Amino acid sequence: MPDVRTEPAIASCSFCRKPNAEVEKLVAGPGVFICDGCVALASQVIAGAPESPSPVAPWDLEMTLDAVLAALGPVAAAGVQVERNLGLWVAKARSLKGTWSQIGQALGMTRQSAWERFSGEE
Ligand SMILES: [Zn+2]
Repeated sequence: MPDVRTEPAIASCSFCRKPNAEVEKLVAGPGVFICDGCVALASQVIAGAPESPSPVAPWDLEMTLDAVLAALGPVAAAGVQVERNLGLWVAKARSLKGTWSQIGQALGMTRQSAWERFSGEE
């Protein structure tokens, strides 16, 4: 599994981890991305899925321990990707003269917390 912290890619699919250079299209969401291949697969799943009045979260499904352990790495990698992208969005806000107070408010944290988490200064 690639480590997003060392990937040279501009962005990678949050689902299959393929970098932008290895996919046709990459659609951006809030800190995440999905590639054309994963959209096609998701469309097949949705088209073939029976109507479900109450969708079940993946972690609430019946699963083996091996399946759960296999899911942990990709979930953690997605979290690292989102955190990295959040840092890039904060840097963008700073480049547009956003204050640490404004950034903190947007993130539901104090100015000090935003600065400590994203400034890179100590
Ligand atoms: Zn993908």
